[in-house]
Amino acid sequence: MLKINNLAVSYGMIQAVHGVSFDVKPGEIVTLIGANGAGKTTILRTISGLIRPKSGQILFEDQDVTKTPPQKIVAAGLSQVPEGRHVFSGLSVMENLEMGAYLRKDEGLKADYEQVFEKFPVLKERRNQDAATLSGGEQQMLAMGRALMSKPKLLLLDEPSMGLAPIFIKEIFSIIQEINAQGTTVLLIEQNAKMALSVAHRGYVLETGKIVLSGTGAELLDSEEVKKAYLGG
Ligand code: ATP
Repeated sequence: MLKINNLAVSYGMIQAVHGVSFDVKPGEIVTLIGANGAGKTTILRTISGLIRPKSGQILFEDQDVTKTPPQKIVAAGLSQVPEGRHVFSGLSVMENLEMGAYLRKDEGLKADYEQVFEKFPVLKERRNQDAATLSGGEQQMLAMGRALMSKPKLLLLDEPSMGLAPIFIKEIFSIIQEINAQGTTVLLIEQNAKMALSVAHRGYVLETGKIVLSGTGAELLDSEEVKKAYLGG
């Protein structure tokens, strides 16, 4: 579904991503784990079309989208939930969800709002509340609901657990699994390696802009290198 070939990304003189290649197959949850500054967000933003790579290629469903503008990438079925949520403040929960659906013209909208409310009942309760006044966990749910309203085939999640209490983290990861079970492919970027590898079918370990290790979620959880560097021994 997604194929990244030899991707290199620079910010001016600083190269953040050095020849990264990986793929995501339909139906999978794939995770990219790595420490602060490893280049995870840069890779995600490049896939979404928000940053142009220096070289390399991004294929989505066999189409080359390396130079495709972000709104066309969303329309093709690839949606990102950004790090730090970025919900629209001053807009209600419902209006935020509507923003997620704004490229859609199909008939299924009403049913999809209901589906989002089923997954995140707290959003239904708070549908008229200003998004800025939601808690961190609720904002994460809203950001995910908003992305789901674009009906993505592939959902990109940037550190959904960041800053959340353990109980919310558990809930968010179980919802990620539910979304995946209902047919959405997921690429998940996380610093919480333990949670990410427990839900992922496969994972890649990123260090200073390079992939240094890959395997199934279970293999990586069991790897001595991963245990030492990311799971606290
Ligand atoms: P984190 O988990 O802390 O978000 P990350 O793995 O997502 O880290 P990136 O945010 O992709 O890492 O950063 C990769 C490298 O690129 C870092 O060295 C960072 O300082 C640098 N970088 C990121 N954004 C910019 C920018 N806009 N201008 C210059 N350098 C940047």
